[in-house]
Amino acid sequence: MAYIITENCVGVKDAACVVVCPVDCIIATDEDDMYFIDPDICIDCGACIPECPVDAIYVVSDMPASLDQWTALNAAYFTSGREAFYGAHGDLIAAAKQKNAGGPHTNPALYQRP
Ligand code: SF4
Ligand code: SF4
Repeated sequence: MAYIITENCVGVKDAACVVVCPVDCIIATDEDDMYFIDPDICIDCGACIPECPVDAIYVVSDMPASLDQWTALNAAYFTSGREAFYGAHGDLIAAAKQKNAGGPHTNPALYQRP
């Protein structure tokens, strides 16, 4: 897993990275508040990084230590059931959503649902 999406995506989820990914490995459902990179499909091309308006995407080797938890979170999205994933990581995502509220790139529609 060389590329991961971190906290700044939560509540933004604008899909700018999705549009440029050549292998369609940036995934989310409508219910998710962020996107995730499937490590089994990502070809480590780096095209997504400059597209992100909130600098949410990192090469793991360049990621600040404060974002360490997001590596496991991204991996778990593709290996856990949905209930188990949100049971283990929902609080981290919810805290990031709260932190990002009202930012210039946040999507208000994501804040108008439970
Ligand atoms: S590094 Fe390339 S393949 Fe991997 S998620 Fe980004 S755009 Fe897609
Ligand atoms: S470009 Fe950034 S904010 Fe937009 S969906 Fe991708 S990771 Fe999230």
